[in-house]
Amino acid sequence: TSFDECGFFQTTSENIAKCKYTRPTPVQKYSIPIIMKGRDLMACAQTGSGKTAAFLLPSITRLISENIPGASRNDTQSPEVLIISPTRELTLQIYNEARKFTHNSIYRPVVVYGGTSVGHQLRQVEGGCNMLVCTPGRLIDFLQRKKVLLDNIKIFILDEADRMLDMGFGPEIRRVVQDFDMPEKGKRQTLMFSATFPEEIQQLAADFLEDYLFLTV
Ligand code: AMP
Repeated sequence: TSFDECGFFQTTSENIAKCKYTRPTPVQKYSIPIIMKGRDLMACAQTGSGKTAAFLLPSITRLISENIPGASRNDTQSPEVLIISPTRELTLQIYNEARKFTHNSIYRPVVVYGGTSVGHQLRQVEGGCNMLVCTPGRLIDFLQRKKVLLDNIKIFILDEADRMLDMGFGPEIRRVVQDFDMPEKGKRQTLMFSATFPEEIQQLAADFLEDYLFLTV
């Protein structure tokens, strides 16, 4: 198996090659086709499995194929892809990988996390944002400031869902999802990644996902 069979666009394939990824890891091999088809997914995968690229690469491909214009410049942004992860460290890792994979494209990932001043992040968001990578608390802050709107989310990704709940972010995440849970359900694609699959995660999956596939690697 190689990345050539995944159906990515040329620029994305070139960016993968620059990262020196030659073949997909198991979680990538199985989840990429599912995500490319637009299906919801619950994937049990550990850190180190390559799960970040597993959700980023097909999400970027879907952005490009739906021909969503590159980031506009408004004060308030409506990203198409929303990625929530529990920690600053993980959020930055996802963002850095998203930057590599969107290199030479018009799509712009922006990162937003707590524990640091808001000013710089605010300017980044205002500069245009297709893909928002964030921690839950700072996201809610930006929503309250009306700097981010969740009215245009096409793909919602919850990474390390079990850790998120362990850290007590359950209510925040439910609040965020309520914010963009539109009447025309089924339009949004939701992906959940978690190392473990305890009852609370099963419940979250039942609440957030629609007709989903379950993958464990
Ligand atoms: P993750 O599980 O997403 O945190 O990824 C773990 C590490 O594997 C990261 O440092 C990635 O850069 C790397 N990685 C992800 N996919 C591949 C691949 N297909 N080939 C080689 N390295 C990879």
